[in-house]
Amino acid sequence: MSITLFRIGIWVIIATLAAYVIRETYAEATLGILKQEYLERALMSGFGAIGLGVLAWLGGKIAPRKKAFCKICRQSIPVGAVYCRIHLHEVLENARHTDEAAARR
Ligand SMILES: [Zn+2]
Repeated sequence: MSITLFRIGIWVIIATLAAYVIRETYAEATLGILKQEYLERALMSGFGAIGLGVLAWLGGKIAPRKKAFCKICRQSIPVGAVYCRIHLHEVLENARHTDEAAARR
């Protein structure tokens, strides 16, 4: 989200600067379509988009993160995980032994 706003802002600024150069270089050919007022507004929009991008980025930094805890020991673990490393190994070992026991029957 924030990176998209950054990109939009930067592209708007680049396009505005290109339009300014075209206007200054070929003053007669553009027939006054590229007015100073329009270019200034476009430039402000570009900086506005970058500003919103910064705000969105800060919002993402400040917003509280979801926390996850191991099902067995309640230790803090990465979001999306179910067990801590130690208990994940235990659970996988138990599952393997169960599978082996079932295969022997
Ligand atoms: Zn655990």
